[in-house]
Amino acid sequence: MEVKTFGVIGAGQMGNGIGQVAATSGVEVIMHDISEEFVQKGLAMISKNLDRSVKKGKMTEDEKAVILGRISLITDLKGMAEADFVVEAASENEKIKFQIFKELSSICKESAILSTNTSSIPIGRIAAQTDRPEKMIGMHFMNPVPVMKLVEVIRGIATSDETFEVTWELSKKFNKTPALANDFPGFISNRILMPMINEAVFCLYHNVGTKEDIDTVMKLGMNHPMGPLALADLIGLDTCLAIMETLYDGFNDSKYRPCPLLKKYVDAGWFGRKSGKGFYDY
Ligand code: NAD
Repeated sequence: MEVKTFGVIGAGQMGNGIGQVAATSGVEVIMHDISEEFVQKGLAMISKNLDRSVKKGKMTEDEKAVILGRISLITDLKGMAEADFVVEAASENEKIKFQIFKELSSICKESAILSTNTSSIPIGRIAAQTDRPEKMIGMHFMNPVPVMKLVEVIRGIATSDETFEVTWELSKKFNKTPALANDFPGFISNRILMPMINEAVFCLYHNVGTKEDIDTVMKLGMNHPMGPLALADLIGLDTCLAIMETLYDGFNDSKYRPCPLLKKYVDAGWFGRKSGKGFYDY
């Protein structure tokens, strides 16, 4: 199956990045969000990112214009009727995602593959909301999408071989390296990453060290390119909390309890870079 038209739902930091790599690979992209303001913001972010490539001499102005010309913006989900493959990258909230997939089931053509960029919600749970669990799969990009090479491909219990193969090949077409994970909370990436970030927040909460010292220990001592608290700010503290809650609920194991300080920051609207304040100020 050839993917000619690719739909992205959610034009936030992940959605616009996914839209950018898809359009750069040559497919037509339909990008959706709940308001005109959000889709325009997503497109502006893509344009700004491509400008960087132009400035570095990696791309011409004409090539940039061609890539942007492949992206159309919609605020009505019905526009996804054209798509051969859809990836959902809306907020990490089960209710929102369930509703989107219920609607997609009646909107998308029968042959369309439905995927989600969820960080932690089980693929099988989302697939159960659709009319086509065999055509449902996880396609988990990393942040920032244009830079990070990995796509974690998550097979749900009902995902067909064809769906898996199309997704695997599409990841490569997007110039990414896929890795396969089975469907358990957090998959591979966030099962390992998020408890580490949560533990870093506990270190801050228990005053084991300052935020700078915690990040310095992990950067210089463990050779991580970013400290865990700076990384949490990049991911979004609301997203980090949602992932910890999914791990906690999914395993019923107290080792995944989210740190109260993480909850406090999210309650205050301190989501990290995207809100201008998290563990650090932006
Ligand atoms: P974000 O807050 O930047 O963007 C989410 C977007 O979804 C917003 O623009 C919002 O308006 C939109 N949205 C909300 N409800 C919607 C709806 N009903 N229909 C369409 N759009 C809707 O969040 P993000 O960081 O881009 O995360 C999006 C998804 O990607 C989440 O599932 C998250 O877990 C996952 N993810 C995030 C990261 C990361 O590092 N931030 C990494 C991998 C995966």
